[in-house]
Amino acid sequence: MIADLPKLPARCDACGYEVPYRQIPRAEYFALLDGHYLRGFTEELRMLELVDDFRSRQLAQGIPFDKPEWPFQIQPEKYPDDHEVVDYLNRSCLTLDLVRRFEFVRNRIGQLRKTVRVLHCAECGDGVLELVEDSRPNGAAGPVAV
Ligand SMILES: [Zn+2]
Repeated sequence: MIADLPKLPARCDACGYEVPYRQIPRAEYFALLDGHYLRGFTEELRMLELVDDFRSRQLAQGIPFDKPEWPFQIQPEKYPDDHEVVDYLNRSCLTLDLVRRFEFVRNRIGQLRKTVRVLHCAECGDGVLELVEDSRPNGAAGPVAV
């Protein structure tokens, strides 16, 4: 399990200061990772709600909405007002067992909200650190050039 942990740097949301993975104390890293997963599951919940709404509207119009076996493609031109949800369905391996996925995602959000901690930036003192995809080739600490 531990070997599979993503090794991401943290970045301040105010000043942009970046802390390489290896300089983040382990306990703080796990707190940052909880926040990282919480943001991911919160976004997934938002998308699941869009999928649920999309499917309900299709069914209300008498259009069967059964996602075929993976891989599949829903034609985006058929749903010009639902670009985001169609794109999500085409990119994800989500099954239409939405009830179970909703339950799982909501449970994870509930658990993560109990453990997540806000870690302030040591550089500016005001900003909050969040894990980000690695943007530095050499992993050096410091402000990120934009
Ligand atoms: Zn900062």
